[in-house]
Parts: sequence; C-alpha cells; structure tokens
Amino acid sequence: MVSINENYLKLKAGYLFPEITKRVNTFLVANSNTELIKLGIGDVTEPLPEACIKAMKNAVEDMGDHSKFKGYGPEQGYQWLREKIAYYDFQLRGCDIDASEIFISDGSKCDTGNILDIFGKNNKIAITDPVYPVYVDTNVMAGNTGPINVENNRYDDLIYLPIKAENNFVANIPDVKVDLIYLCFPNNPTGAVANKEYLKSWVDYAQANNSIILFDAAYEAFITEETIPHSIYEIEGAKNCAIEFRSFSKNAGFTGTRCAFTVVPKTLIANTANGSTVELWKMWNRRQSTKFNGVSYIIQRGAEAVYSEEGKIQVNNLVKFYLENARIIRKQLNTTKLDKVYGGINSPYIWLKTPENISSWEFFDELLRTVNIVGTPGSGFGSSGEGYFRISAFNSRENVEEAMKRIKKHYKV
Ligand SMILES: *Cc1c(COP(=O)(O)O)cnc(C)c1O
Repeated sequence: MVSINENYLKLKAGYLFPEITKRVNTFLVANSNTELIKLGIGDVTEPLPEACIKAMKNAVEDMGDHSKFKGYGPEQGYQWLREKIAYYDFQLRGCDIDASEIFISDGSKCDTGNILDIFGKNNKIAITDPVYPVYVDTNVMAGNTGPINVENNRYDDLIYLPIKAENNFVANIPDVKVDLIYLCFPNNPTGAVANKEYLKSWVDYAQANNSIILFDAAYEAFITEETIPHSIYEIEGAKNCAIEFRSFSKNAGFTGTRCAFTVVPKTLIANTANGSTVELWKMWNRRQSTKFNGVSYIIQRGAEAVYSEEGKIQVNNLVKFYLENARIIRKQLNTTKLDKVYGGINSPYIWLKTPENISSWEFFDELLRTVNIVGTPGSGFGSSGEGYFRISAFNSRENVEEAMKRIKKHYKV
C-alpha cells in the first residue's frame, strides 16, 4: 500500500472561495435574473500594459528565429531582468540589493510555499490572523503544524498574531521567541500598511532572536503615502533577517501570465543542527536549480517591459485606476451605515466592519440577497477576521459605481 502525506488530511475542508461559489450558485438558481456584481476575488480585471504585450510579441518572434531562439534559460531568471529589478525596485530606493540576490519565478504564491523547502521542521512559525491562506496551508502540508482546533479554526503549533482595528491592523511584536514570521504589507486582506518604525521593530526583533521575516510585498505598487516603505530592505538590518516576495500579478496584471521574484540576500544565514552556519542564498539557489527550470523567455521579456519608460507609465496608470475604484468605494461607504472602513488607500482592498456586529458570513448573505453584491467574508482569512468583510477594487469603474449606488440606497443613514 502506498502511504500518503498525512498532513494533507489536516487541511480544513470547505475552503473560502469554493464556499462563496456554492452560495452564489444557490442564490442564482432561485434568482436567475439578478445582475450580480463580484467584488470578491483578488484578481485583476484590466488587460496587460501595451508595453508588455509588445515585448512578448517580439519575444515570440525571437523564438522562431534561428539566431535568437532560446532553450532552457537560467533557473534564477535572465540577467537582464534581474538587473532591472535590482536597480529600479531596490537600488533606486536606497536598498543595497544585487541582481544575483533576485530569483525570478512563476509566482509569489509558489515562492511563499516553496520557501519552506529550505527550513527545518522545528521552527516556531508566526502568521497574522487574518492572513493570506497560502502561508497557513503550506505549513500544514509541510508538517509544521498540529491538527486544526475545531473550536477556533486554528492549527496547533502555529502562532497566530491577531490584527484588528484595535491595533490598526498591525500585529503586536510577540513576547515569545518565534523563528519564522510572515508579514504582508500592504496587507491582503486588510489593506493596512506598515510604517518604517513598525517594520524596524520587527527587524530589531528578528535580529535579537535570530528569526527570519518572510516579507510579502505583492501590493507594493499600491503604496500612495510617501513615508511608507516599499521594501523591507529600506529598514537597516533587514538584509540580515528578511526574505522578500514580489510579484508582477497585481501591479502589471500578470495573474494569468505568471511572473514574480524572491529576494534572498547573500548576507542571510541560519544555523545547522551542529551549530555551524549556512547561507540561505545558497540553499534557495540549490532548491530552484533542482526543482525549477525558470520562467518562459517570452514572459520574462514581458516583465522586463514593466521597467521601460512606457511600461512604467502604463503600470502606474493601471494601479491608479484600481486605486481610484478603491477611493470611490471608501468615499461612498462612508456616507452609509457601512461606514467603518479600513484600507483602500495604499491597497486595492477595503476592509469593512460588518454592521451591528453580524458575522462575516451573515453579512455576505445579506449583501448577496439585498444588493446582489459578492464580497469576501473576513472570517475566511482567520478567526480574528470574524465581523469583517473584504471588498476588492479590482473591477470596472462601471461595476464599482453601480455597486456603490445599490449600497447607498440600501444602507442609507
Ligand atoms: C496576489 C497575491 C500574491 C501574488 O501571487 P502570484 O502567485 O504572484 O500571482 C502574493 N501574495 C499575496 C498576499 C497576494 O494577495
């Protein structure tokens, strides 16, 4: 008999988005003529920037040309892309990151999960609650947690750091020692950001405790406030304690195209069981070279175009478009009974306190029934998300305006 990875059996069934689909479909069976507006799933809606399309078309031509054809590329990504990333995303912001520390990949979802390959089994792991579910489930699969506790939907042996309105949706620094900490700023799902002082307190904590921060900056392009850091490496000392994940999914609309990257500084070290040290860069390099064969040449050329003069303008316009949707949502909700709104300023997500303290799923059903709008229940991101609700600005202007019209009418003060 073949045995299986039993850790998969610990995973919570009935995951958030399938449950949403189920409820929406049930509703549609009974109400087939409804014009639903979906402000739920975190996927972009606008097409790719013209500069990326042009670059990818040219790259397709290269592949048909004997003198320009490319076979396997470097597992770490093409040097021309890594250099542009290092320069534009880091060096221009004063971060001392070298192209060799950038690893191109097909997604941050994969990278945040795969990174666990290079860490041992006895680490104390902290996540925020609510959280991007990938961090939790990949740790469950890797056997880093105990079983789920049905009372609070939390896995044993994971350390949950609650984020709520009371702490401005940034986790308090733990008073116990943890080894790995997942941080996501601007945050999915709450839309919260971290200032320099706050990130500095995490870097100080990590340096004092020999911990590693796994910093997910997938929404970095949505930062509008001047003083908010875009990278953890803007904080002194972070090169000794942080890995950063970035993606072209949300800024350039690459969710279906797939390109991202992970920064592993060469200065990052961890201990072996016998007390010597290893460079994490070497381990990640080995992991990627062994299990990954790189991102398609065509897609990397598309990603490179994000850094061209026209690409920068077009990406900026895309981000501005979604941020304007977010601004409209915030502004309109503030004139209604749904006026406890957070996020949406440096983020495409608006995080809403449910009215009259009803549960996240009750509010989901109410919005679906009364105004035919689909959002995401906060409790799906963790038990501390109970009583909150995520509204996404990834949609057409028309849909956003129509959704707000309905909400203003129904939730009039
Ligand atoms: C969308 C998103 C990503 C990006 O994932 P890709 O696999 O690169 O598309 C990463 N982290 C968070 C929190 C996200 O919401």
